[in-house]
Amino acid sequence: MNQLRISAKALAHNFWALKSRLSPSTKLIAVVKANAYGHGAVAVAKQLEALQTDYLAVAYVAEGQELREAGIQLPIMVFYPQKAHFKTLIDYRLEPVLYSKQTWHAFSELVQSMTEKYPVHIKYNTGLNRIGFLPEEANWVIANAAKSNMSLISVYSHLIESEGPRPHRTSDKQINTFLEIKALHEKDTEQSPWFHLLNTSGVYNYPEQQLDAVRCGIGLYGFANHPEWDQSLQPIATLESVISQIHHIQKGETVGYDQGWVAPKDSVIATLPLGHADGIGRHFGKQKGTVCIGATKVPIVGNVCMDMLMIDVSNCKCQVGDTVQIFGNQQSAATLARQSETISYELLTGIGSRVFRIWEP
Ligand SMILES: *Cc1c(COP(=O)(O)O)cnc(C)c1O
Repeated sequence: MNQLRISAKALAHNFWALKSRLSPSTKLIAVVKANAYGHGAVAVAKQLEALQTDYLAVAYVAEGQELREAGIQLPIMVFYPQKAHFKTLIDYRLEPVLYSKQTWHAFSELVQSMTEKYPVHIKYNTGLNRIGFLPEEANWVIANAAKSNMSLISVYSHLIESEGPRPHRTSDKQINTFLEIKALHEKDTEQSPWFHLLNTSGVYNYPEQQLDAVRCGIGLYGFANHPEWDQSLQPIATLESVISQIHHIQKGETVGYDQGWVAPKDSVIATLPLGHADGIGRHFGKQKGTVCIGATKVPIVGNVCMDMLMIDVSNCKCQVGDTVQIFGNQQSAATLARQSETISYELLTGIGSRVFRIWEP
């Protein structure tokens, strides 16, 4: 059947490879949102806890809840909590990122009467225009923090294009804006948060801006958005399928729904039990995606179906039951993603829940 095999060794390698780029005092916030980018959040978080990472981060409250229910004890930052889930967040000892006056008011009210100050994080929007307080709101945040029953653990922002070649006008501007925000917060003697700005590519591109912490997701899973940086990392996942059936078809016959592929000559077609419901999108079928049988790359042909896809194995000896690698050591997830104009993040997070995750210690 289909298997996503996850290498614990490779995960540890990436953890140490990232740590080796940081000064010993810089914290590593390990990002395990979206089911640890599709790899399985609980297993990945357990290993990161064993590796003694400083912090975990997820996107939404339910993801943090899952980790707590599995026994994870590390502090967990929730990047994008929704007001409707604040009570659950508190029940599970998760730490919210507050990103607007609305989220601030709603959360500070909930924790006002607690006996201890509740740990929170503050996100600033320095240009991505997605989520975050405006830089102009820094003084408001500082003044209100003093009156609140919340303790500011960290203050951060996020770069628009951290992998872009330096010098980079937008990134430089964002860095300056963030350093100004940092200076304002540092004048406040009540709270002493730590500051962070970099994701994985940022760690490679702007090591001098590592500040007190960095937030690494994709790097833990083996990619850094640049062929050279990728060299220092090992993809932790291998996606494999098996051949269910083989058809010998004649020139002019078609393969798949809507006659997505017309055989230009007599051909041999193999079917895999993996489809768009498993995260291999339809667009791969338009002669864009390849998979590997041994070391041979063969094209996906026709439209990818929900549960299956077909490959042209005319030039490759194979039989029913043979293993086919979708990504792994023969072709990386980043390479496959590029074939259909997407990125490793989307391909990995999209691998469906029907695909068995096999943890290899
Ligand atoms: C997802 C996310 C990250 C991780 O980014 P990578 O490129 O995967 O290292 C860091 N910060 C924030 C705010 C995120 O949402």
